[in-house]
Amino acid sequence: MPELELWTAAWVLIGGTVRADAGLVTDGRRVLATGGLADLRRRYPSAATVAKGRYLGPPLANAHTHLDLGLGPTFTGPFPDFVRHVVGQADRRGHAAAMRAVEHAPQRLLGDIAARAEVVDWWLEEGPAAGVVYWEVLGLVPPRREAEILEATRERLERWKRRERPGGPRVGLSPHAPYSLTPGLMRGVVALARELDVPLQIHAAESPGERAYFLRREGELAEFFREQGWPTDLHPTGLSPVAYLAELGVLEAQPTLVHGVQVDEADVRLLAEHRVAVVSCPRSNLGLGAGLPPYDLYLRHGVPLALGTDSRASAPSLDVRDEIALLARHGQPPERTLAWAAAGGRAALGLAPAALQPGMELEQVEFW
Ligand SMILES: [Zn+2]
Repeated sequence: MPELELWTAAWVLIGGTVRADAGLVTDGRRVLATGGLADLRRRYPSAATVAKGRYLGPPLANAHTHLDLGLGPTFTGPFPDFVRHVVGQADRRGHAAAMRAVEHAPQRLLGDIAARAEVVDWWLEEGPAAGVVYWEVLGLVPPRREAEILEATRERLERWKRRERPGGPRVGLSPHAPYSLTPGLMRGVVALARELDVPLQIHAAESPGERAYFLRREGELAEFFREQGWPTDLHPTGLSPVAYLAELGVLEAQPTLVHGVQVDEADVRLLAEHRVAVVSCPRSNLGLGAGLPPYDLYLRHGVPLALGTDSRASAPSLDVRDEIALLARHGQPPERTLAWAAAGGRAALGLAPAALQPGMELEQVEFW
């Protein structure tokens, strides 16, 4: 008869709920039982109680990052200056930067957006983690260039999809943001994702400037477009970024929507209707002056939530637990946000749920 242990922690995630007075019983290989501490002690009186720390449950996911941006430097300031900062890092992006970054990314379930093909190759060959590596597409280009970009994207995706392995990362597509693709290119990328059956992730409703650009062609993003000499008549006006994505048919393809900070109730209703999950990156949002998403509004409408760190260009670490700590200081209790990071993150990445339950292998259980 193997020695039994009763593991517990300050927060234990069982099913979709974080509980304080709960735990699991294990024989050292598998989970034999889960439930309330009093009940487990009654059923397994010989099991020695072991406090495993603050959290016990299925692994947390970091559902949004950009490993190929490496380890910084981290920028704080207005959003257009952040775009300049990221563009300034372009030469340093790539496989070597991603390899360095992943060493500092404690979660092994990742939603990673890659802007360099060698990074997708690396993911598919060496699989630093499970989850999804999304190939980034953007462009404010004439229709002829749209067709060329789409054709090149199709070739790449078909090739990468053939290299997916069971249990390894999947390849996906990320049309960068509503403002950084022409409507035609956005439609084309989404159609391609649906045709090839690959997951989608998009940044949207991040900065106040993005909303002002779409509604009235005003604000710091509109000014940035003018400064860059980019056309400002490519997108319709009078629609919020989320309403624009709905009108274009993007929400029907159920992308995960990263940020979702600058939204009103009509936007939240659209996301709920389409069952679009929002991946929140609160430290990045605060650092870039976007504010925090209206979490309670999302919860009221039943919008699925997940957490991500975003890249080291806008967040000081790649540990989603630091997002949970920040949110606790802003009134969102860990009992809630741990479920977003664990169950919500898996769902956002299209992974099967991993509930703490009898029969689960012990190595699938996370604690810290
Ligand atoms: Zn991002």
